[in-house]
Amino acid sequence: MATQGLVIINTGHGKGKTTAAFGQALRAAGQGMKVCIIQFIKGQGKTGEALAFAAAFPEQVELHLAGTGFTWQQDMETVKAAALAGWQLAGEKILSDAYDLIVLDELTYLIGFGIVSEEEILDLFRQRPQRLHLVITGRDASSGLIEYADLVTEMHALKHPYQKGIKAQKGIEF
Ligand code: ATP
Ligand code: MG
Repeated sequence: MATQGLVIINTGHGKGKTTAAFGQALRAAGQGMKVCIIQFIKGQGKTGEALAFAAAFPEQVELHLAGTGFTWQQDMETVKAAALAGWQLAGEKILSDAYDLIVLDELTYLIGFGIVSEEEILDLFRQRPQRLHLVITGRDASSGLIEYADLVTEMHALKHPYQKGIKAQKGIEF
């Protein structure tokens, strides 16, 4: 049977959306699949997952950063320009038919920031090759995205170390 590409969304306000997306990418890479990851909003720092993929799957997993870092340290126009460039790259990658799985990390914020409309996102998703799985992460996924998706998981925060004042730590947050 031909692969049925799924649209998978990890949303909600709890931790684990991006790490679950990378876990999915790791699973696909282990099965010999070609993976492309585009990280929106994020800065340039090397995360553990980026280092791990570069070490283990340099040919099979591509990772692109389409962000400038934290929004409160940047002017909005810079953030938007980087995100828009990332969105254009996402379009090329999705239509290229060169991948089995593409992760669009923190994509949901592009709608909230008014950088890309939900309709534009869905238009691109509808044009994708049939075999292509898409994984989208970010808080507050819009209703249209949720409706279109095949698999939606909401991470719900019960506790987070941040509430105790414990800051981001290597290997846990990055
Ligand atoms: P992760 O990358 O660890 O899987 P995430 O993708 O679910 O987390 P984001 O919304 O992208 O989370 O936020 C990124 C950062 O915010 C992470 O360092 C994460 O630990 C932190 N974070 C996530 N949820 C909460 C929360 N409920 N309270 C405080 N910080 C949070
Ligand atoms: Mg995330």
